[in-house]
Amino acid sequence: MDQPRLPAGLHPETISIHAGTIRSQFNEASEALFLTQGHVYDSAEQCERRFAGDEEGFIYARFSNPTVAMFEARMAALEGAQAARATATGMAAVTAALVGQVKAGDHVVAARALFGSCRYVVEEFLPRYGVASTLVDGRNLDAWRAAIRPETRVLFLESPANPTLEVIDIAGVAAIAREAGARLVVDNVFATPLWQRPLALGADCVVYSTTKHVDGQGRCLGGIVLASEAFIGEHIHTYLRQTGPAMSPFNAWVMLKSLETMPLRIERQTRSAGLLADRFADHPKVRRLTYPGRPDHPQADIIARQMTAGSTLLAIELDGGKAAAFRFMNALRIARISNNLGDAKSLVTHPATSTHQRFKPEERLAMGIDEGLVRLSVGLEHPDDLADDLERALAAI
Ligand SMILES: *Cc1c(COP(=O)(O)O)cnc(C)c1O
Repeated sequence: MDQPRLPAGLHPETISIHAGTIRSQFNEASEALFLTQGHVYDSAEQCERRFAGDEEGFIYARFSNPTVAMFEARMAALEGAQAARATATGMAAVTAALVGQVKAGDHVVAARALFGSCRYVVEEFLPRYGVASTLVDGRNLDAWRAAIRPETRVLFLESPANPTLEVIDIAGVAAIAREAGARLVVDNVFATPLWQRPLALGADCVVYSTTKHVDGQGRCLGGIVLASEAFIGEHIHTYLRQTGPAMSPFNAWVMLKSLETMPLRIERQTRSAGLLADRFADHPKVRRLTYPGRPDHPQADIIARQMTAGSTLLAIELDGGKAAAFRFMNALRIARISNNLGDAKSLVTHPATSTHQRFKPEERLAMGIDEGLVRLSVGLEHPDDLADDLERALAAI
């Protein structure tokens, strides 16, 4: 197998096309799909060496697979991480990153504004196995400090957070983690590898749902955990091999091909999101529009320090609560009602009745999720067509 060596210092656009490519003896131009659950050995002795770890090579797709390995290597290069492990879904990646690090008696601190399922893992599952957890207002560094206990092992956050787009000072929280002898995990889905580098800001581990911008076309589920070799070796490698949330080679192949166009898509979608944010921020039907690329974002100073561009998402709070939000969503003709994000298709979500439905109203409000809040994931359509769509739907409220 041929693994071309790339020069150092390449840009994301180049890395996302070339990094990690492995070519078989046929020297195929496009990445091959190795749709195989396992591999055969030349001899019983070779099989023994592979299992003992004395010889490099593939064994079984729950452990690794050539197509999945290409995807992992490309994502690691893009993120500037030493190592990566792909998983079946984003939630499998989040769960591995958290559960892989803790045992009964340990403690986890997490920001309260999290993707619904992430919060479920922190709040419901970890305590069931004797791992206590504390949720804090992630924007307040003193709240993180106050929550630290001697047995705190992991700090976890999402920034910008889903769906409110509030932003957390990653370097600040990383310093608190280091001081406490704990490790910081960052869910970087909303920022994408293009606009934010949590490892460079001091985080120990980054996770993605690759279902979102990486696939970017609404087809496959996937996730990935990225960190140092030491971190992956100590906390993630064995957990994933033995519990089995492996990424399918087929999904890895789809995602590899998607990576080729990902920077192009994210740049265009971010530009369109910025245009729409500026156009609708002061619209009379909009109570508040939150966009990480605008100077009126509540944490604009932190964004300037830790992000190189905004996001492909907008948080739009409408006057008139759920009724207004529903009228707005039902009147859209281009943006569709769905729960994915980062897709080529613009998608609109009402978090209070979908992704965050299970929370009590007061819990939702504590996360900043008002009944009138709508999350818009901006796609690849022409921004003028999207602006007309939003204008029409706002008029229909
Ligand atoms: C979607 C999402 C996840 C979960 O990913 P799945 O691929 O749906 O399992 C986790 N975190 C964030 C921020 C997400 O948006």
